[in-house]
Amino acid sequence: MSDSEIRLNQLRDAIDRSRDDLVALTQALIQIPTLNPPGDCYLEICELLHKRLKPRGFNTELIRAVGALGDSDKHPRWNIIARHDGKHAGQCVHFNSHTDVVDAGDGWSVDPFAGVVKDDRVYGRGACDMKGGLAASIIAAEAFIETFPDYSGSIEISGTCDEESGGFGGVAYLAEKGWFNPERVQHVIIPEPLNKDRICLGHRGVLWTEVETFGHIAHGSMPFLGDCAVRHMGAVVNAFEENLFPALAKKQTTMPVVPDGARQSTLNINSIHGGLAEPEEGYTGLPSALVPDRCRMVLDRRFLMEENLEDVRSELHDVLESVGESRDNFRYETRELFSVLPTMTEKNAPVVQAVSAAIKSEMGCEPDYVVSPGTYDQKHIDRIGRLKNCIAYGPGILDLAHQPDEYVGIQDMLDSAKVMAQSLITLLSVE
Ligand SMILES: [Zn+2]
Repeated sequence: MSDSEIRLNQLRDAIDRSRDDLVALTQALIQIPTLNPPGDCYLEICELLHKRLKPRGFNTELIRAVGALGDSDKHPRWNIIARHDGKHAGQCVHFNSHTDVVDAGDGWSVDPFAGVVKDDRVYGRGACDMKGGLAASIIAAEAFIETFPDYSGSIEISGTCDEESGGFGGVAYLAEKGWFNPERVQHVIIPEPLNKDRICLGHRGVLWTEVETFGHIAHGSMPFLGDCAVRHMGAVVNAFEENLFPALAKKQTTMPVVPDGARQSTLNINSIHGGLAEPEEGYTGLPSALVPDRCRMVLDRRFLMEENLEDVRSELHDVLESVGESRDNFRYETRELFSVLPTMTEKNAPVVQAVSAAIKSEMGCEPDYVVSPGTYDQKHIDRIGRLKNCIAYGPGILDLAHQPDEYVGIQDMLDSAKVMAQSLITLLSVE
């Protein structure tokens, strides 16, 4: 056996030995209910990570995203970045995990915040999305440092907040402050739950737009004296059905988006509100007779690498203008709420190559390359940080995210930790 094979086996053994520690760490992370919204317990989870990593030679910094969207004294947006420097200068590999979780909801057969262990799985809200991935990356980094104490370069582990609500108080804030500057970080792995044999290269683009139509208020018994904003909006929806949805279905992408249904442009009508507001709960009276003078619709358009944001904007504008040509008094306004460009890391990027080789070595199979239908924090690392060498790779099954009885498999965590640790060997030159 060659020297490098011996060291690789030592690395695997170190990870296997840490099994109980890995489970306990995952449980401890789940037991802190970092619910978002509103953004609970962010400081607590950063302190847990600080207590874990500081004694193991990491320098830790707790960073509050003061003034970021969502930050308040009641719900401060805390993040942690922990850095371990090797014996010699070199590149930096950064593992970024979000610490927030979504509401537990109903339908659980176990306590969502107890961290119950059953059938070789850890259950709980955030188990797969993504506290299991965070724990696996910590075990991977620690085992690597123990096995290769003379390594060159640096390893960073961050726990960041608010990914579930756009990441503005988390990765976006840190990227704006230079933490993901390519001069200090060269490789980023985000351990989101995408299955241990898949590499997620990026995501589709997003454009959220609010469309408002206007009419004229009048008595409901004489609608001809008014102008119904809801009927104008109905005409818009009709134009979507007749022209836009069929056109979007034809826009197919070469991006390997999963599931297959998302391998095209999509549009979701998120909400429509027109006329009187819903009565308060318990109100027993009847509504009043009014012609609605405003109607609002929120659109969630997901677009492809093959499209550009300007075209996506003008496509909506064209539909609205064409509706206006066929209706009297059609007036509308649009307001853009949010946009993200699609991103896809090249398959020959160093971090993709390293993780791909590690999957082959650990799992004995070629990795699947996928693209996410929705966005995650890679968008900020790419757009604000200008760092292209970034992927999502981590244990857990994506379909379980945000579901009742969410869990992460213990063996999956161990296997993915081995992949992450072996990637470190490739990315950080080892003496
Ligand atoms: Zn996630």
